[in-house]
Amino acid sequence: MSQLQKKEYVRSMFAGISRRYDLLNHLLSLEKDKQWRRFAVSKLPPGHIIDICSGTGDVAIEAAKKKKTEQEDALLVVLEKAEEIKKELTAKEQKAKEEEKKFSVEESRIKADFTKVENELNKLLKDRDEHCARIGKDLLKRYTQLFESKNGLVVAAVKNGNCLGCHMNIPPQTLTEVRKNSKIIQCFNCSRILYWKDAS
Ligand SMILES: [Zn+2]
Repeated sequence: MSQLQKKEYVRSMFAGISRRYDLLNHLLSLEKDKQWRRFAVSKLPPGHIIDICSGTGDVAIEAAKKKKTEQEDALLVVLEKAEEIKKELTAKEQKAKEEEKKFSVEESRIKADFTKVENELNKLLKDRDEHCARIGKDLLKRYTQLFESKNGLVVAAVKNGNCLGCHMNIPPQTLTEVRKNSKIIQCFNCSRILYWKDAS
């Protein structure tokens, strides 16, 4: 048989069995070839694979299945992560809405308190103006000076014979005058306006 005839013989033999090549492999190996192929493909490194002299393409098909499975697994991981992020985002949005609601309630409460205090202050200022108009300019001037020099503590009680503003002992004559409560009496030491606290 010439070289050319040998080539032609091999070509015609493979052409004859090519349609049933895989079936023949399954039968002859008792389907072990499928396991070997899966094992071989499982050992392939990740990335692109080029199957040279691929025969019937069964290894390439198996590798493509593996690649597809890997991509599906990776996609599932991404989808799970996306779902997780979406849940976190929803929870944070809910939390932000709750905080916003609390803030709104607190803001309304503070505004109401502020308005109440402002109204009370306006009423007190109005009362003060009315009282100031009645007590006379000289006494008001004296009060204002004391208010500034005594850090707002203008009046002091007399208790046990002492001025509770400076704790000095008040002379008996002054005590009598304070007790009468008929005119403005100031402490001889701290100048605060005195009022009677107790019967001692
Ligand atoms: Zn005093």
